[in-house]
Amino acid sequence: MTLTDPLAATTTWHEQLLAERSAHNYAPLPVVLTSGSGARVVDVEGREYIDCLAGYSALNFGHGHPALVAAAHRQLDRLTLTGRAFGNDQLGPFCAELAALVGKQMVLPMNTGAEAVESGLKVARKWGYEVRGVPHDRARVVVAANNFHGRTIGIVGFSTDPEARNGFGPFAPGFDVVPYGDADALRAAVGPETVAVLVEPVQGEAGVVVPPPGYLAAVRDICTDAGILFVADEVQSGFGRTGHVLATRGLGGVDADVYLLGKALGGGILPVSAVVADEAVLGVLRPGQHGSTFGGNPLACAVGRAAVGLMAEPALLRQVVTLGEILRTELEALVGRGVVTFRSVGLWAGVDIDPALGTGRTVCEALCARGVLAKETHGATVRLSPPLVIAEADLRHALATLGEVLAGLAG
Ligand SMILES: *Cc1c(COP(=O)(O)O)cnc(C)c1O
Repeated sequence: MTLTDPLAATTTWHEQLLAERSAHNYAPLPVVLTSGSGARVVDVEGREYIDCLAGYSALNFGHGHPALVAAAHRQLDRLTLTGRAFGNDQLGPFCAELAALVGKQMVLPMNTGAEAVESGLKVARKWGYEVRGVPHDRARVVVAANNFHGRTIGIVGFSTDPEARNGFGPFAPGFDVVPYGDADALRAAVGPETVAVLVEPVQGEAGVVVPPPGYLAAVRDICTDAGILFVADEVQSGFGRTGHVLATRGLGGVDADVYLLGKALGGGILPVSAVVADEAVLGVLRPGQHGSTFGGNPLACAVGRAAVGLMAEPALLRQVVTLGEILRTELEALVGRGVVTFRSVGLWAGVDIDPALGTGRTVCEALCARGVLAKETHGATVRLSPPLVIAEADLRHALATLGEVLAGLAG
């Protein structure tokens, strides 16, 4: 077997391991993890780290949460997969419990976040034709610039990130892009063929971009006035990250028509996603019109039920608010000391690093060397999204380490 040049150039064994035969669609930090508990993970050399990424918020409940692991173990020994050709005894309770948590009537279970987004778009289009009377194959959806909704061809087709879309066309038509946070631009983009507005209540991948006050309420009004669907992609912002079950309600004070959930819904154990809406919307799907081999499988539903149960505990959300205040206070102290600016909401921050000190990547590598794991986004921004269950001392330690790293880079 011949190795390509970059592999041959690696020196340490864990670089070799990282460079094994996986496609090079990621550039991971030089760390190889083998176990984890709560907000702590351990690498193959036995070094411990504080995880401040939490699987891009898939690990909101931390690594190895006992209730989630127990639910998975119980279900593993009973029944893992049936396909939707048959019923399974976990699907009904999962859908009922998630619908109750979200306050909607129906759940369409899928697997990954991107599938939830694709499914939500399919439902919105079908609803547009059947309920709103849009002429067939004319439906349009308004989306926001700098969005991140996943990696399928359909989704990257309306991304504005050249890295995400270039080289992957041709793309599906029917999407109109407007600036994020600009209600007037959104209102102007809605036309007679528009069936839905798809937005993230907080743009995570874009660098934790919180919209201006009143924006989500304006999206609600625009959709209500036009008689179209407000589709909220809460795959990353939902499930506690902002201190609320749903950011649209908690931050925006309004209700979307369709919620897209994923990431933490699977408890960091397996991919579980869902489209959650009322029957008037999800009811447009009839047998044979949409599906998924793995969506709604009993193992995923059992873990999803445990995740819903944890999310229904108000103490966790109160903890997010408390920890979020610490995060904000500590970051404020770093502004002008290596941090240009930052945006934070709940236990979630996008920290813009002074380019004079280096890139986000430089900072993340230095953090990694000091036992803190975080990931840069868009060059100069470090995203912090630790597990919601992180101990206060660990959070403070991680932020102190960030301060030391920045001071070190400043020389
Ligand atoms: C991560 C993410 C997705 C895609 O989820 P996958 O499980 O990676 O497909 C979609 N929308 C948002 C807002 C996300 O953060």
